[in-house]
Amino acid sequence: MASKQLRILVPVKRVIDYQIRPRVNKLGTAIETTGVKFSINPFDDIAVEEAVRIREKNKSLVESIHAVSIGPSKAQDILRNCLAKGADTSTLIDSKDARIEPLAVAKVLKEVVEKQNANLVIMGKQAIDDDCNNTGQMLAGMLKWPQATNAAKVEFLESGRVEVTREVDGGEEVISASLPLVITTDLRLNIPRYVGLQNLMKAKKKPMEKLALKDFSDVDFEPRLKVNSIEEPQPRAPGVKVNSVDELIEKLKDAKVI
Ligand code: AMP
Repeated sequence: MASKQLRILVPVKRVIDYQIRPRVNKLGTAIETTGVKFSINPFDDIAVEEAVRIREKNKSLVESIHAVSIGPSKAQDILRNCLAKGADTSTLIDSKDARIEPLAVAKVLKEVVEKQNANLVIMGKQAIDDDCNNTGQMLAGMLKWPQATNAAKVEFLESGRVEVTREVDGGEEVISASLPLVITTDLRLNIPRYVGLQNLMKAKKKPMEKLALKDFSDVDFEPRLKVNSIEEPQPRAPGVKVNSVDELIEKLKDAKVI
């Protein structure tokens, strides 16, 4: 087992709940957020779960688990959830609802990594609101750390190296790296636990540091991208029921697809 103690940082984003069907606002400029349920990004929930499981498997291996979110003040809720699951401490960086692009998020996270003296970042492979799949890779690049993306399994070897199984087209790829390391999570890494009310109440006593974007004066938060328009998918044409294979073939011929 690795002798180096882990100081794990888990960045988590508050996004529209994955079970909600996003709707475009009346102006067609953004996703409607009024009255919509928000939750932790599902891949980040998996990241928190993995950090907690690493500690459960080997208590002495993990020195600390710190959760961080850049988002509106309501992102406190997802941080409380992380604390209830087993994170020790947390930081909310209040973005006052501003849309922060992955490059700026990665720059902020780099500063948090340095402040927390973290040697392992476990984060989602992708935020389901912007679908960027950028931040982990940029963070690893800026830190000059190795990255193991789309992790489906994580194991700590006697040698101190970390072995990560990645799902790739048609199979699995197993890679290993030494710490410090950035890992991004895939869906099959684990199934996150449910947090009970009792643990949520207890989590209120755990520390939550509150910062603002201005505390990161070296980071340029000016967006580089402009959303020109946003559209819902075209509604699908209704299906037709057929009574026999012959009828199906006729219909397909009529539609000129065979
Ligand atoms: P993205 O590159 O936007 O698809 O996001 C990939 C991952 O970066 C997410 O799964 C989170 O772990 C992390 N991340 C992105 N945005 C934020 C944020 N605002 N606060 C904390 N972590 C974030």
